Amino acid sequence: MRKAAFIYSKELEKYRYPPEHPFNTIRAQKVREIVNSLGLLSGNDRREVPPVPAKRVELKKFHSARYLHSLKTASDKSWDSDALSMGIGTSDCPIFKGMYEYSVLVAGGTLVGAKLILSNEADVVFNPSGGLHHAGAERASGFCYINDVALACIVLAEQGKRVLYLDVDVHHGDGVVYAFYDRSDVMTISFHENPRVLFPGTGFTNEIGEGEGKGYCINVPLPIGTYDEAYMKAFEAIALPLIGAFKPDVFVLQLGADALAGDPLAHLYLTNNVYVEVINHLLSFRKPILMSGGGGYNIDNTVRAWALAWSALCGADTVNLTAGGVMLGSTEWHGGLRDKALVISDQQRDAVMPALQATIDAIKLKVFAIHGL
Ligand SMILES: [Zn+2]
Repeated sequence: MRKAAFIYSKELEKYRYPPEHPFNTIRAQKVREIVNSLGLLSGNDRREVPPVPAKRVELKKFHSARYLHSLKTASDKSWDSDALSMGIGTSDCPIFKGMYEYSVLVAGGTLVGAKLILSNEADVVFNPSGGLHHAGAERASGFCYINDVALACIVLAEQGKRVLYLDVDVHHGDGVVYAFYDRSDVMTISFHENPRVLFPGTGFTNEIGEGEGKGYCINVPLPIGTYDEAYMKAFEAIALPLIGAFKPDVFVLQLGADALAGDPLAHLYLTNNVYVEVINHLLSFRKPILMSGGGGYNIDNTVRAWALAWSALCGADTVNLTAGGVMLGSTEWHGGLRDKALVISDQQRDAVMPALQATIDAIKLKVFAIHGL
């Protein structure tokens, strides 16, 4: 039985992005409500653990003192051009009440998860509030202020762990990817929609790391309309052999849910069944998994996907959990939290598969030999 920790407390409910902003902090609360109602927060080595604010000394492992000072000052309502030059106070990263406290609490939650894994108190952890993968060392970006997942990778690597960072958010995990671009102890693999059409515009196949890190950064840009079968083909062709060769001690999994069909900010066509498959693949390596949330702008789909992901991660007997029926708004569907399979037209297959195969071939050519594959 895996020891599982769900990171959450009511303290998180005190904070909200501005009402018109797409990033909705209520998602974590809703996920918590569902998994709790399903009995997945107690018994059988499952428990809920509250986040604690990250300490300044921890935040400085990735972020600059100048940035942290500006972020705190802006949050306390004195915002200046220096803050704006670091992306603080833009439409993507607006200033809101408690912005600093919220970001630091979320980051602290992911770090609590990392510590639980390091002390063998947990084998799998989920912080649904985390996954703020766009934040840079001195930059707020893409709704992200403090990069909790980069910090977690740093903390784990500091303890000598080989870290496999896997990012399935529909956007490139740029903040984490570039933080480890010249390192070989943290391998980053990011699956995301084609950067030519989607923020942040990076994450092409030729970005493979540099120096000691060459070959330890893998970017898998996906065509518009990528569907489950195509996605898993790429995952099994690229991620599985590289993970096997890298032999990680721990996984950090950013599980943004904006790659699901119907996300208002992106153009992929996945169902949440892909997330279960990805998680099951990672579990097969029998190493700890620190999982975070991330993007996901269709709130209901995101919440259901993350509840399903938690059930898969913590080894609930079945993923066909019936409480999802209400959320699906359908009395005919008995798949519980799982999405129905989507019908893929021949036209869509023809649009996706050749482009995807070219991407797979390009990545194999560039990085496989470095790992003896
Ligand atoms: Zn995203």
